[in-house]
Amino acid sequence: MKEKNFLDTVMEFEQQLQSMQEQFSELKAVVARTMEEHHALQLENHHLRSRLDEFHKAVPEVAAVDPVKLKKAVMDIGEGYDNLARLYHEGYHVCNVHFGSSRKGDDCLFCLSFLNKQN
Ligand SMILES: [Zn+2]
Repeated sequence: MKEKNFLDTVMEFEQQLQSMQEQFSELKAVVARTMEEHHALQLENHHLRSRLDEFHKAVPEVAAVDPVKLKKAVMDIGEGYDNLARLYHEGYHVCNVHFGSSRKGDDCLFCLSFLNKQN
């Protein structure tokens, strides 16, 4: 191998290493983001499961499969408004449109007008 070819090969190799290092950094960032999302979803799942357990203890099975009946049953438990308001403040929809799903930190006009009507 001629000296010039050898140097070219070494420099090419160096560039490939740099490019691989950049790709590796990107990959690490993706893994970190995925792990964060995974953690957040685990927390939400855990939270929803304990909520569901609470509901199952308090709400008859039949009512739990029907969102409308479920909401009525939650209201019937007593302190229904407080339960719904608490659920809303913990970050979940209590409106007909998205009942039970995460508000993802956003306020929801449907929820707010629903809570106002109940008050
Ligand atoms: Zn809502």
